[in-house]
Amino acid sequence: MAGSDAAAPSLDVRGLHKAYGDLDVLKGIDIAVKHSEMVFVLGPSGSGKSTMLRCCNRLEEPDSGAIRVGGDPVTGAGVNLNAIRQRIGMVFQAFNLYPHLTALANVTLALRKVRGMSRRDAEARGMEALAQVGLAEKAASHPAELSGGQQQRVAIARALALEPEVMLFDEPTSALDPELVGDVLEVMRDMKKAGMTMLVVSHEMKFARDAADRVIFMDKGVIVEQGPPEDVFGAPRHDRTRAFLSRVSGQ
Ligand code: ADP
Ligand code: MG
Repeated sequence: MAGSDAAAPSLDVRGLHKAYGDLDVLKGIDIAVKHSEMVFVLGPSGSGKSTMLRCCNRLEEPDSGAIRVGGDPVTGAGVNLNAIRQRIGMVFQAFNLYPHLTALANVTLALRKVRGMSRRDAEARGMEALAQVGLAEKAASHPAELSGGQQQRVAIARALALEPEVMLFDEPTSALDPELVGDVLEVMRDMKKAGMTMLVVSHEMKFARDAADRVIFMDKGVIVEQGPPEDVFGAPRHDRTRAFLSRVSGQ
């Protein structure tokens, strides 16, 4: 299911506003992610990063602004949210796997229930997705038998199985023991090599430096600055960015 407009950004967020009551969380966010681009979003806790990601597939309803995937509207009346959400994969900090289902059954659930694929076709696609994250041999394991890093890789496979055009990651390694972080980042690096378009909220600065095409620094609901990682990390232009980077690099 390719986007209808090959020249359009894979993900296009324009003028995104979101408030919770009196709290203005997003004050006009513009982000365009090109095909195969990996864009990192950094910012202090509470700056609106998760809200921004959740608005992209309308897990949160934007107050105003326009969002498009592959040129097609995500916002506005009459959008088929079910169809749109299959085009935008999402990976959260908490893996949210079903404990009573095997890894393969977790990965094939949406293929069968949402896509209506036969068990045989869903399992073939599910095995491909598990192989992509290096876990084909764990297909029959239940989440409790897997490490946190392996569970997160199953969650990534679950999203990949739907063959999304864009993947959103919300702090995918924050819940992991440090020694398990590397495997998840390696999978993300492989996905980028394979051409996936990715918008990633994460504090993995070293990975951002190595792998991101662009880094966005967000604070208090606005984009403060953005650029190639070597610029944002090496020569941040704003005090707020400098203060944030010196805080996190001290950790
Ligand atoms: P970040 O991911 O950058 O830490 P969030 O997007 O989670 O930031 O939150 C931004 C702000 O919005 C925070 O002040 C948070 O408390 C508030 N917020 C987030 N979700 C809700 C909600 N459902 N209702 C009310 N306030 C919320
Ligand atoms: Mg968050």
